[in-house]
Amino acid sequence: MEFDLAPLRKLQEIDLAIAARLKVEDELPRQIQAFDDEISSRQAEMEGEKGKLGDLQKSKKTAEGEVELLRGKIAHYKDQLLSVKTNREYSALLKEIDSAQKKIDGLEETIIAYMIETDEHHAHLKRIEAWFQSERAKLLANKAGIERELAKARADRSALESQRLEMEKTLPETVYRTYVRVRELRGTSLAEARDQFCMECHVRLRPQVYNDLRSNIRMITCDSCDRILFYDGPPPVAQPDEAAAPMESEEELDAATQGRSSTGD
Ligand SMILES: [Zn+2]
Repeated sequence: MEFDLAPLRKLQEIDLAIAARLKVEDELPRQIQAFDDEISSRQAEMEGEKGKLGDLQKSKKTAEGEVELLRGKIAHYKDQLLSVKTNREYSALLKEIDSAQKKIDGLEETIIAYMIETDEHHAHLKRIEAWFQSERAKLLANKAGIERELAKARADRSALESQRLEMEKTLPETVYRTYVRVRELRGTSLAEARDQFCMECHVRLRPQVYNDLRSNIRMITCDSCDRILFYDGPPPVAQPDEAAAPMESEEELDAATQGRSSTGD
């Protein structure tokens, strides 16, 4: 009776496909989050600029109001100048006028600074608005594409999981348990054996094991990595001497040769 490896190989294929979908499901939400973060950070930047422009406008208005008030005072002082009786009062008023004028000069400089700052923030706001006009739509389109990809990965995985459940039922319990145990240990459960080597852990198989594997009479696991072995080459040609005289690995031969030559010296 032949050991049927086909369901196990199919199971591994399904498990690898599920793992690939899980990776996508893990990665894509992060990409989606990055799109959302970029948009909300630009949005916050825009709100910040608008707030700043509002503050600047308020400050400018306040400064303009103060200038207006000081100009009123100066006009009043100038009126008073006409009716003062003493030099002392006269020079006191001139001092007041001078001080008010100095305050006005300072405030006017501040107002100009506010205007320059307003222009800068206005230009920045325009750049953000332009970004929203041109880039936001592209970003949202990309995000929608990724969301579709994610939905597909989820649907695919769900289908694969149902398929896996069916496949699992067809396997003998001991075989399935071995499969799961090795998978948890190694990530994959199956390994191809070729030219007497396990192609996963690259350890040479014993000739008897390799022969049994090629004859496909039972489940065979790699002595080194425990993976369930499969063989895709041609069936074995009967070679009666092969089993009787086990072949040594090249490493063993090399070690033996070196050992002999070094002890010979
Ligand atoms: Zn192995």
